[in-house]
This record gives sequence, structure tokens and C-alpha cells, in this order.
Amino acid sequence: MSPEIDVKVDVEIWCGCGEWLCNQSRDASSRSQHRIEVEPCEKCLDRAREAEYQKGYDKGHNEGYCEGERDGVDIGRSGSDQ
Ligand SMILES: [Zn+2]
Repeated sequence: MSPEIDVKVDVEIWCGCGEWLCNQSRDASSRSQHRIEVEPCEKCLDRAREAEYQKGYDKGHNEGYCEGERDGVDIGRSGSDQ
């Protein structure tokens, strides 16, 4: 009698956003360990990228990108007036 028990399990993995992670997950099992690797779904990656982009944009906006631009215009004007 063999002590090894072979169990097959069908696993469906879903992202928290509701996206099915079939293409983003893979069986990364080794001989001693069963495991499944899952990557974030494309939707969540896109959302994260957009959030980071928005954050960066706001940061630049608040930290003087527009100020600098305005200063540049003012300097240009005063320079041409003289
Ligand atoms: Zn997702």
C-alpha cells in the first residue's frame, strides 16, 4: 500500500475586483510544496497605474510645476517690456 495520496484539485482564482485570474495564475508547485502563483489582474494593474499617474500629476501640480510655468511667463513678459 502506498502512503502517497494523489489528489487533484481544480482551483479557480478570482481577483478581488471580480476578474478571473486564469491567465495570471500558474501552478508553481515543487515536489515538496504545492503552491499557486498569482499575478494581479490587468484591470487592477491599470487602475494602479492610473492612480500612480494621477498621484504624480497632483504632486507636480501642487509642488510648483504650474508656479514655475507662471514665473517663466512673468519673467518673459517683464523682459520684453523693458
Ligand atoms: Zn483585479
